[in-house]
Parts: sequence; structure tokens; C-alpha cells
Amino acid sequence: MKSDVYFIKTGPCSKEERGAALEKVLKNASSLLSYKKDEIVPIKVTIGDSTCVYHLNPELVKSVVNKIKKSGAKPFLFDTSVIYKGQRQNAVDHMSLAQSKGFGQTKTGAPFLVADGLLGQDGKELPVNSENINKIRVPSFVGMLDSLIVLSHPTGHIVSGFAAAIKNVAMGMSCRATKQVQHSSLKPSVIEKKCTACGLCIDICPVQAISFKENKALIDQKACIGCGECLCACKFDAIFINWHEDPVVFCKRMVEVAGFILSKFKNKFFINFAFDITKECDCISNKDEKMISKDIGILASEDILSLDKATSDLACRDKKTDYLKDKQPVYGPMFDYAAEKGLGNIEYNLIEL
Ligand code: SF4
Ligand code: SF4
Repeated sequence: MKSDVYFIKTGPCSKEERGAALEKVLKNASSLLSYKKDEIVPIKVTIGDSTCVYHLNPELVKSVVNKIKKSGAKPFLFDTSVIYKGQRQNAVDHMSLAQSKGFGQTKTGAPFLVADGLLGQDGKELPVNSENINKIRVPSFVGMLDSLIVLSHPTGHIVSGFAAAIKNVAMGMSCRATKQVQHSSLKPSVIEKKCTACGLCIDICPVQAISFKENKALIDQKACIGCGECLCACKFDAIFINWHEDPVVFCKRMVEVAGFILSKFKNKFFINFAFDITKECDCISNKDEKMISKDIGILASEDILSLDKATSDLACRDKKTDYLKDKQPVYGPMFDYAAEKGLGNIEYNLIEL
């Protein structure tokens, strides 16, 4: 079976032309974007790190917000806190950054919320019980609302090689502890010289894996279950994240988390803004902004897998470097695994508008 992917090819073009292209996509997808009066509709966005130049354009986000409002629904924009340093590590800094980057309500027409609370810990824990992940913590509204819209900026990625809508859902819609679990199956450790012996990590660890040794926290690697709670609790950046994950396991975890989250929504719609496709994703501070593909255009679908597959195929076709081709052995099997897990169809009908 194949899913429909709407596509409008733009190539390099002005902001206005990008806006007109989006309007065309939204018009053609009108039947998929109808909501009940007063329905609360979450729109997942990623505003990017404070240093990130190429990311989702808030003016395009505003067009989507306007479209939803026309049906009488109440859209809101959201993201979650990240696990690494920067201005998106807590809700206060994250919301201030959103405001300064044009994602505030006055610019987009919808409020921007950090959906997992002040420090990325507020959410509910749900059992997943899949091959690579047992349970996840997600913002509380997951499971309470019918609809979801996901707006993504496709890029390369340091582990998976390609990041778009699947990564935006898997990482961007889970609380910090679940982000940590997805990123690393290796256990966190303490950077002694940064540890102030405040004891917060000891209090929060669910399996008592942390104790003081010579007035510094020490993680018992055998007892640790890799939940990531201590990482969220430490206010002194004294918990070390191991980024050297097996890429295949990393991708499988993302698929399992994204699949579980999406199963909680009835109506889903995804848009990939395939412009300014940089080598590294928008989360990274001082990311490598080298373009790996030419500007492609806008793709939209109800099927997250068809959408990401079509986006990566077009990015490979219009490549600027061999990065995506070289990384295909990593993200290619991720798409296969997503198909196996029922996230969508790997085959698609590209409907050029
Ligand atoms: S929370 Fe951080 S600073 Fe406090 S004891 Fe744990 S590792 Fe040390
Ligand atoms: S990752 Fe979880 S289990 Fe491991 S030390 Fe930190 S809080 Fe404890």
C-alpha cells in the first residue's frame, strides 16, 4: 500500500514564495485539516538552539495556525526541554528564546508552551514494552487530545544521519528522561570536579544507584537502569551524557517511541519544510550548517513514514554532498523498522502540486 504525500517543489526562493507554496499545500490538504469548534490542537515545532540560524520559519508556522483557527479550533505550539546545555533546557529560558526567535503569540497567533514543565520532568509515565524501550514519559496531554500537527525542518543528524518528522515526535514529544534513554543505552556518570554534593540526584534515583564517595556523587553502573532522572535533577551539569550510541539501536528506539506517541492521536498531519537542509540538526549548539542538499520544497502527509521517506529520497536526489548517501545504511533500516512497527507506509504516491 502507498500513502499520499503532497509536494510542492520550490528550489531556492524568497520568503514570500515559500509562504505561497505553503498556502497551496494547505489548500490541497484542506479536507485533512478540519477540526471541531473549540477543539484544542497541538502543533509540534522546534525553534532550534539559540545559535541555530536555519530552522523552522515562524511566519510559515503562522500560516498553519491561521488555517486551523479558521475551523474554529484552538491551536497551540509546543516543544519540550532538551537534555543538553543551552537555552532550551528549562521552560523559562526556552519560552524566552521562542519569543526572541519570533515564535511568540503576537507573531504566530498561538501561544508557545513547553509541554513538559519547568525542568522537563512533568509528564506521565506510560508502559511501551517494546524491544528496545520499556516505558516512556510524555507530556500529560498525550492521550487526552484527538489531533496532532507536526511541523519539521529536515536535516542530517549526528547519529541517525537523517532527522525529520519521526525524530521530531520521538525526541521532541518526550520528557528529558525519555530523551536520555533514547540517546544512550550506556549509563550516565558524574563529572567529579563539577559535583557540589547537593544530593538531588541521590534523592531522585528510583533504584538507589547513586551514593556519595569522598563527598562526590558516584553512580553504580550495575544498579543504574539508565532512566535519565539524575541528568534532569542535576543543576550543575555534573552528570555526563554518553553520546556514543549504537546508531541502529538509537533509530529503533526513536521508531518505537514515535509509534507509541502517535498511536495516542486519531488525526495526525505532518509537514516537512525541506529548505536549508543542514548537516546537523537544529538542536545542536553551533551546529555544522553546511548544506547537504539543495532546497527542495514543502511536503505534507497524514503518514509520517511516507513523508520522511519521500523527503530523504528527494534530498538524496538533489544532494549537495554525499552525506545522506553515506548515512543511508543507518536511516534506511530505520524506515524499514518503522514500516515493520506500523508507523506508516514506506511506499508513497508523490502528488506534485
Ligand atoms: S545532583 Fe549533580 S551536583 Fe548534586 S550530587 Fe548529584 S551529581 Fe553532584
Ligand atoms: S540514570 Fe536513573 S537509575 Fe541511573 S543513576 Fe541516574 S537516576 Fe539512577
